[in-house]
Amino acid sequence: MCSALLAILTVLALTPARAHAAPATWSPPANLITPLDQVWQHQEQTYNNGDLYGFRNYGWDQVMANRGYVNYCVRWDSSATVTAAQRDAIHAALARQHKKWTDELTGHNAWPYAQVPVRVVGWAVRNRSQLQWTDTSVDIYVNDIRENAPQCGVPCGRFFNQNGRYPNCPGGVARHYDQSLWLTDGFGGGAGGDWGQRVGKEYFLNNINAADMHILLHEIGHTWGLDDFYDWTPSGVGGFLMKAGSAARITEFDAWMFRDWWRHLKSRYGY
Ligand SMILES: [Zn+2]
Repeated sequence: MCSALLAILTVLALTPARAHAAPATWSPPANLITPLDQVWQHQEQTYNNGDLYGFRNYGWDQVMANRGYVNYCVRWDSSATVTAAQRDAIHAALARQHKKWTDELTGHNAWPYAQVPVRVVGWAVRNRSQLQWTDTSVDIYVNDIRENAPQCGVPCGRFFNQNGRYPNCPGGVARHYDQSLWLTDGFGGGAGGDWGQRVGKEYFLNNINAADMHILLHEIGHTWGLDDFYDWTPSGVGGFLMKAGSAARITEFDAWMFRDWWRHLKSRYGY
């Protein structure tokens, strides 16, 4: 028994981490073609008063404007203190979850980026003394309150400057932020959109090492344009991440819905 167990452990140890490769072309499995078409039609009919293509601040627009990265502000909507180690762990967890989506594009259908780095360029807080670091690795915004929560500066935010220019941002384009990670004391569930994602501070910290932080993954899906499915289900698909509560990770159907956004928007960026 011991030797068998050892053999299994050896095999596991020698198995190299598989590089994630998305399909090279638009080639969804046959059983997903109809539900994908249903989803796209539904989005076209219901987004932006029927003008899905008129909206210009999807996650796609942000990453393509940056040529392949995304900048974040952390809205620390909490009375807790934060150490430098916690700050860096929050950044790392956010980057890991974000990568779960962008890995689904790597090598797919002319998507131009092998990586989409996540940079945290700012932290917003009510009181500077909550942040227990003195280095200057992020910009710090103190007591700039909107929606009853601290925010990073309006002049630096993509949401407020959708032409992608930041003439009044002290750090310029390099320190602009595309999205906010809004962490709120005692907040249940989540919210997501072109402005970023909001989840509970406790949820985020309690799941900071989880392989799949599924509420955050779902909300990041919204930032990329993916829809909710509260009142209908596409034909023939079971649980999936964007149908809240029915899956706890990005499924094959989620990945193809995501790639469908790129398929439909890529001409806007010259691809
Ligand atoms: Zn949702």
